[in-house]
Amino acid sequence: MTLTETPSGVRRHGPRVAALLTLTPLLRLAVVRHAVPPESPHRAACDACGTPIRLDRPWPVLGPTARCGGCGTRVGPPPATVELATLAAVAVLVLLGPPVAVLVATAWWLAFAVPLVLVDVAVHRLPDRLTWPAAAGTWLGLGVAALTGPGPGPWLRATAAGLGLAVFFAASTLAFGARGFGLGDAKLAVSVGLLLGWYGWALPVTGLLLALTLSALGALVLLATRRARWTSHLPFGPYLVLGAVGALLLVR
Ligand SMILES: [Zn+2]
Repeated sequence: MTLTETPSGVRRHGPRVAALLTLTPLLRLAVVRHAVPPESPHRAACDACGTPIRLDRPWPVLGPTARCGGCGTRVGPPPATVELATLAAVAVLVLLGPPVAVLVATAWWLAFAVPLVLVDVAVHRLPDRLTWPAAAGTWLGLGVAALTGPGPGPWLRATAAGLGLAVFFAASTLAFGARGFGLGDAKLAVSVGLLLGWYGWALPVTGLLLALTLSALGALVLLATRRARWTSHLPFGPYLVLGAVGALLLVR
């Protein structure tokens, strides 16, 4: 991994990585708040003892051990998951490299993609409160990148790719109903299409194919290990994010 390849690499990126890891309580809070059944209010306290979960007192409940400070019950995503996902996101940014304006847009998208994946795994939902800001911020960030760099071409293509990918998911939701994708997937697809479309038309196509392939493999593994049935509804958001990251790193 690039981050720890050489001592100089550690010296160069170490402080930045440490600074980014201070964001993990915020990401944990986003997952804890939104990983609730539909129509339920956002979670603001420990389910077991009622101790409030807030950013002004992040430890230990929003730390890597994910244990309530009041009663010790595990709260939110499993220990270390958010922290490892954040490290992986940082590695993606390091591998992508400049221009900075595109990196800022990508970092914004990753900051929403990490909690979206964990919420989708926990409750099979992709809340609007995370998918829409992910799309809006990515779109604006790439707009700034276009103004300070190559001009409007890549930004217009990104916009078309975001809309195109969303229409693909929305249409298959309408066509297949509950057996197809969800509308949350269509909303997440907006930001995925934006990010990948910036680099050209090959990336959105590759990202989508990667996501579909990984999701099929994931479903087969779950079926083989009897952790899912043919009729189970499996979350697609994690595969969409993995497919997008894979396309960014492989094809760009
Ligand atoms: Zn508690």
